[in-house]
Amino acid sequence: MTSLWLDGREPIRSDSLEGDSCDDVVVGAGLTGLMTALLLSRSGRGVVVLEAREVGAVTTGNTTGKLSLLQGTKYTRLTSRHPESLVRAYVEANLEGQQWLLRYCEEHDVPVQRRPAVTYAPDDAQGLKAARDEHEAATAAGLGVRWADDLDVPFPHRGGTVLEDQAQLDPMDLLEALVESVRAEGGRIVTGARVQHVSRLRSPTVRLEDGRSIRCEHVILATGTPILDRGLYFAKLEPGRSYALAYDYPDAPELMMLSASGPTRSVRDAPATSGRALLIGGDGHVVGRTRSERAHLNRLRDWTAEYFPGAVETHHWSAQDYTSHDGVPYVGGMPRSLGKVYVATGYAKWGLTNGVAAALDITAQILDGRLRWADRMHHRVTRPRSALEPVRMNAGVAVSGLQHVLDAALRGRPETPPKEGTGEVGRSGVVPVGVSTVNGRTCAVQALCTHLGGVLAWNDAEKSWDCPLHGSRFSPTGEVLEGPATRALPRRGPDGPTP
Ligand SMILES: Cc1cc2nc3c(=O)[nH]c(=O)nc-3n(C[C@H](O)[C@H](O)[C@H](O)COP(=O)(O)OP(=O)(O)OC[C@H]3O[C@@H](n4cnc5c(N)ncnc54)[C@H](O)[C@@H]3O)c2cc1C
Repeated sequence: MTSLWLDGREPIRSDSLEGDSCDDVVVGAGLTGLMTALLLSRSGRGVVVLEAREVGAVTTGNTTGKLSLLQGTKYTRLTSRHPESLVRAYVEANLEGQQWLLRYCEEHDVPVQRRPAVTYAPDDAQGLKAARDEHEAATAAGLGVRWADDLDVPFPHRGGTVLEDQAQLDPMDLLEALVESVRAEGGRIVTGARVQHVSRLRSPTVRLEDGRSIRCEHVILATGTPILDRGLYFAKLEPGRSYALAYDYPDAPELMMLSASGPTRSVRDAPATSGRALLIGGDGHVVGRTRSERAHLNRLRDWTAEYFPGAVETHHWSAQDYTSHDGVPYVGGMPRSLGKVYVATGYAKWGLTNGVAAALDITAQILDGRLRWADRMHHRVTRPRSALEPVRMNAGVAVSGLQHVLDAALRGRPETPPKEGTGEVGRSGVVPVGVSTVNGRTCAVQALCTHLGGVLAWNDAEKSWDCPLHGSRFSPTGEVLEGPATRALPRRGPDGPTP
């Protein structure tokens, strides 16, 4: 499934990896990684970006592309858990991230459309309360929101809170410009380079899957979720996957909307060759914990058909992002790395502004600078103070982990190849084996996540093996797609063409 943004683009060419040392290694070429690489290289540091797949291949190239300070029901959630000073610091961080990007886009001819952002009330009492609560929380946080009873859209709603003059863009336009800027400052971007480990964290050496290694002063893990287990971030983050569809639809509303209560619906327009596109998103769930991913996509399709009749589907895709236990991103030095290894994660699907703020914060720390909002926001990486939320998250992890183990234990290895586009987990001896058939090729892999051994589930929308514990995902042939895992799944023969 290819996003509207990635479709038809040539992958960005790779630089070669020269030498075995540099000042700073940035792992990951999404928005966070490229922004950090640009800021560090602008200040004269020798930077190498190592990207496992292609630039933008994971979350940034599959985002909805809203650059907004109004973020669904973010402020209701933050104010229920944190002091006002932190909520205001969050707004400051996101404002700085947003304004930095808008200036950059203007200077580098990256197209941006200005739009009002709306958190709207679905047509029920619960939806209205959630949107009203957000209106109050956003006002208290200092945002100049206004309430509108009628939003002039074709689907049922009871009004919503509106923040004028926010922005939307095509994230790949942005990443392409950032790549050029990084290269112009002397930075190198190497794609197809998966980092497997970082050893000696206080004097780091970055080790690649192909055996090469690079020594450096700092490592920035801009990998979506950290690929090192130190700090146990995987246990304090929830990986959430959601869905998106693009349609040809000339009357798409010129608003960036998100529902205040579930099932989540996200709406925006986009420029398209045919005039205007309509983007519908949402219907998310924790990665690997649903019966059918395709059903989530189909629910969005049905909703669009009902309220935007005549819209012609052009693209559908899905992506995931990570939510921290208390709603504030984790950004900063990894515990006990003496400021040598940095992480940036937990943006909860608002990484376009938070990712830039994270890059500004990490760069300031490396260059011995300080940002007022970063100190107050407790971006710091050694939370939590409250243990309740991690307990809830890990209860979910334990239940779904056990469920998958039992499911696999009860079934033997499938005797006949699964139908085209499907995958099944069974047991071979004591080991769960996943057998799938995709594009006529039947393949068997060990269905245990190489991160922490979760039993994998078949994703019937993306045709991948997904881990319900911490969100690692693998291709049908076992290659890592995303998440904290860094090692491919062992193959379990026989495989090859379907007989
Ligand atoms: C469906 C959806 C819609 C969203 N919509 C919005 C929105 O409208 N507005 C908004 O602000 N935010 C939105 N977000 C969130 C936002 O897109 C993300 O938070 C942001 O793109 C994250 O950027 P990143 O650079 O941190 O991660 P990514 O873009 O995922 O980049 C991480 C990179 O690291 C690489 N990597 C991982 N492991 C390794 C390794 N071992 N070695 C080398 N490279 C590695 C990956 O291949 C990847 O390219 C959305 C998220 C989702 C899922």
